[in-house]
Amino acid sequence: MRIATRVREAKIIIARQRAKKRIIGLVPTMGALHAGHLSLVKIARQKSDFVVVSVFVNPKQFGPAEDFGRYPRDFSRDRKMLAPAGADLIFYPAVSEMYPGGYRTYVEVTEMGGLLCGRTRPGHFRGVCTVVLKLFNIIEPDIAVFGKKDYQQLVVIRQMVRDLNLDVDVVGAPVVREEDGLAMSSRNAYLSAGERKRATSIYRALGHAVRRFRAGVRDRQKVIMEIRRILVQSRARIDYVEAVDPVALTTVARLKKGTVIAVAGWFGKTRLIDNREL
Ligand code: AMP
Repeated sequence: MRIATRVREAKIIIARQRAKKRIIGLVPTMGALHAGHLSLVKIARQKSDFVVVSVFVNPKQFGPAEDFGRYPRDFSRDRKMLAPAGADLIFYPAVSEMYPGGYRTYVEVTEMGGLLCGRTRPGHFRGVCTVVLKLFNIIEPDIAVFGKKDYQQLVVIRQMVRDLNLDVDVVGAPVVREEDGLAMSSRNAYLSAGERKRATSIYRALGHAVRRFRAGVRDRQKVIMEIRRILVQSRARIDYVEAVDPVALTTVARLKKGTVIAVAGWFGKTRLIDNREL
C-alpha cells in the first residue's frame, strides 16, 4: 500500500496502473475510519483492480459554525486499518495541496443541494461536489463508492456525474450499523454515553416507519408524525424528518416502494443523519 500526499505523485502512480489496463476504484473519505468505510473499500476491491482511498477533511464542506477544527483525525490509525482492508493507495493531501492560495472554482448541483441537509448546511453540497470532482480529476477512477448513509450526498454526486458527463460509475453501498442499529459515523465519537443510548431512537423510528409501510400505511404525514414522536421521546432536537423520492429527493405525496425516509437530528451538540428505503 502506498501513500501519496501530492497531486502529482498520485497522478504518476495512477498513470502507471492505467497503462497496465487496471480498473481504478476510488473511495473518498474524511478519515477517522470505521467499519462503514471499510465496507466501501471491500466493494471497491471487488469491482476494481487498484483501490484508491482518499483521506481528506474537506474544509469547503463545513459551515463557519461547524466542526471542521475538531473533526476527528488519526491518520496513523487510518493507514493501519486500510492496509489489510485492501487499499492500494491512500491519497492524503494537505488542505494547501487541494486548495492552494487563490483557489476560486466551485461546483454546485442547483436546487437538489439545497434540500434536506442543504437547508441546515448551506454550501455543504457545493463543498462536497467541488472536492469530489477534484478527486475524480486527480484519480480518474472508473468506479467510485459512496455510502447510502449519506443518501443525499450519493444522489447529488450521481446528478453531478450525469450533468457533467463524467465517466465514473458511482456505486452506492449499504449503511453499516452498530449492533443496536445506530448508523456508524465518525461523529458518533462526539456522543456522551447518555446521548449514545438516546441516539438509537433514530434507527427505531426508521424501523417503525418501515413496519408501518409494510402494514399498508401510505399516509406520509401520519408516518412522519409518528417518527417525530419517537425522536422527541429520546430528547432529540429534530432537524428534519422527510419522505422523499430516491432520485429527485423531492417530498412524495404518498409513501410508496423505494421512498426514502430521511432523518436528521441533534443529540446534544452532535448532528446525526440516517435513512431507510421503503
Ligand atoms: P465520511 O468519511 O464520513 O465523509 O464518509 C466517507 C464515505 O463513507 C461516504 O461515502 C459515506 O457515505 C460512507 N459512510 C460513512 N458511514 C457509513 C456507514 N455507516 N455505512 C456505509 N457507508 C458509510
